[in-house]
Amino acid sequence: MKFFIVHAHPEPNSFNGTLTRYAKEVLKTTGHEVIISDLYAMQFNPVSDQRNFTSQKDPNYFKQQVEEMYATVVDGFAPDIKAEMEKLDWCDVLIFQFPLWWFGLPGILKGWVDRVFAMGRIYGDGRFYDNGVFQGKKAMLSLTTSGPLTMYTEIGINGDIHTILYPINHGIFRFVGFDVLPPFIVWNASRIGDERRQAYLEEYKQRLLMINATPPIVYPTLADFDEDFQLKQ
Ligand SMILES: Cc1cc2nc3c(=O)[nH]c(=O)nc-3n(C[C@H](O)[C@H](O)[C@H](O)COP(=O)(O)OP(=O)(O)OC[C@H]3O[C@@H](n4cnc5c(N)ncnc54)[C@H](O)[C@@H]3O)c2cc1C
Repeated sequence: MKFFIVHAHPEPNSFNGTLTRYAKEVLKTTGHEVIISDLYAMQFNPVSDQRNFTSQKDPNYFKQQVEEMYATVVDGFAPDIKAEMEKLDWCDVLIFQFPLWWFGLPGILKGWVDRVFAMGRIYGDGRFYDNGVFQGKKAMLSLTTSGPLTMYTEIGINGDIHTILYPINHGIFRFVGFDVLPPFIVWNASRIGDERRQAYLEEYKQRLLMINATPPIVYPTLADFDEDFQLKQ
């Protein structure tokens, strides 16, 4: 299978860095192909604006989604965005590797989504959710936290992690058609000892090698909603 890992951590020797290098090694030695976009190493520009495009439909008023639809027709995406789109087309499995920052994605990774997931090319015209462009592909979050699991339950002080990750899993991955696999989470990454970290690496290896046998998160389908996009009774 073809794995595309989008890696967002400023320190190569962080545990996130270890997880990405380890995933690459495990997957390659088991016959898979791997491409990594290491966003900090690439100095990926996360700011979404006119620089997303090589030409502009309306140079007097910038409206991103209008320009995205135009760029889709005229092949007008900037080279850095086009390269990432081609990696998305190429892969069978997309993985985001990141530390949880403010209950969400680090800005550089959110900016990658803002710029790369373009209307016309990646979604739009009725192509969303189970009718999305990437239907048949899988996506998974692999993240670290500083809080322990107990803080991220329904009765935990931070609230349920699956509710926290819903905007990414459902609002980004599922929206563009991916089957979304349950996240792999290293809890309390900075405070656990080396032994526990080694155990997490082994758990991650098992998750990666079992990816085809892992059931995706179940979301309602488009057919479950009426013409106002409300769940049918
Ligand atoms: C802006 C910001 C916002 C944040 N918001 C949140 C939040 O909302 N919720 C939350 O829970 N946390 C939050 N945090 C904390 C953050 O999520 C954690 O610091 C991060 O997840 C820890 O992962 P890391 O890869 O940076 O760990 P690191 O601290 O880089 O690594 C942990 C340890 O692992 C060691 N290590 C590396 N490789 C190996 C290896 N092969 N074997 C064994 N050990 C190894 C490292 O040397 C280090 O000692 C936030 C942090 C920032 C900066």
